[in-house]
Amino acid sequence: YFDEETVVFHNGKFIKAKDAGTDLYSQSLHYGNSVFDAMRAYDTALGAHVFKAHQHYKRFKESAERMCLTLPYSVEELVSITYALLEENNFSDAYIRPMVYAGANLELTPTEQSGLFIAAWKWDKYLGKDLLDVTVSSYSRPSPKSCHVESKIAGNYASATVALAEAKRNGFDDALMLDVDGNVAEGTGANFFFEIGNRLFTPQCGHIFPGITRQTVLEISQSLGIEVVEGKFRPADLNRVDGAFFAGTAAQITGIRSINGNPMRKKWENTIGYTIFEKYGHIVTQNEYDGYSII
Ligand code: PMP
Repeated sequence: YFDEETVVFHNGKFIKAKDAGTDLYSQSLHYGNSVFDAMRAYDTALGAHVFKAHQHYKRFKESAERMCLTLPYSVEELVSITYALLEENNFSDAYIRPMVYAGANLELTPTEQSGLFIAAWKWDKYLGKDLLDVTVSSYSRPSPKSCHVESKIAGNYASATVALAEAKRNGFDDALMLDVDGNVAEGTGANFFFEIGNRLFTPQCGHIFPGITRQTVLEISQSLGIEVVEGKFRPADLNRVDGAFFAGTAAQITGIRSINGNPMRKKWENTIGYTIFEKYGHIVTQNEYDGYSII
């Protein structure tokens, strides 16, 4: 993620990543209440462009507020720090990770003191370029009754790490997690879509992390006249589907080859998912403003 020269933004300054330190007494390190976000800069004809940066930072600020973390920067300031960070590192194409964490406090009370860092690094498609074999996980997504699942809270990811380890142990590329009621929710780090005939299906909001890429897929589908059904689906609904894919900032659009050993009925190249994959790649890199809220 970094080398000798990599620069990060940490608590108001651009410093070398190798010189940045962690507070051992940070409440977030002990209790997982830090909040992060993830966005990508793409190399476009107009230079580096951070896809939907304002939306990502709006979500970041809302998440921090829900977790009682102090984040004294406006969305505009965070966006301009991010472009400056890209310049510091000479990146036009990068993955960007802002995080706000609680300062020293080993009690569970809200902590006024907080830290902010923003890091950027070169990161290829997170789940790889190939199609994925996925399995339904025995671990469920955190319940919306236990914490804010619509926010990117570090602690929410503990279950994703064990789900992914289980899937890898069993020879799969990723896990498909169910919610606490047994409905299909999402991947360990991306939203999930499947298709039958000429319709797309995706789990409704409530238990999932409502991704910005998911929203973009909904926008693309609308512009192409593709019907998307948002609802509750059981794992058995996935036994015979034409195609499926994950959608997320890191994963972008990644096609799925099989779910629990059941292959997709259509070749990836012949699916709606593939059409969306191509369109998404075009929007993020071509700076195509028409019809999409890309800022
Ligand atoms: N679900 C989970 C659990 C995730 O970690 C992510 C990645 N941030 C997503 C969905 C996709 O969100 P986005 O499209 O905003 O990156």
